[in-house]
Amino acid sequence: MSASSNARALVAGSKRECLGCGKPLTDRQKGACSGRCRAKLSRQRKATSHQHRDDELRVLARAARQAIEALERRLGDRA
Ligand SMILES: [Zn+2]
Repeated sequence: MSASSNARALVAGSKRECLGCGKPLTDRQKGACSGRCRAKLSRQRKATSHQHRDDELRVLARAARQAIEALERRLGDRA
């Protein structure tokens, strides 16, 4: 391998590498080097969005609980 092709490989590697394992990608590969890495990435994405939704639900649940507690306090005052 010549020095210039090594440099090209380094540039290409630094620009595009597998998001699953960090290996340099060839021009034809997008995002992941193999089906296994693609599957890993899509699993991670799913887990992340699931985590995000859980966080939002927790915030909603807390707000609902606070609203119910405030309502109970008001009803308690009236009784
Ligand atoms: Zn990979």
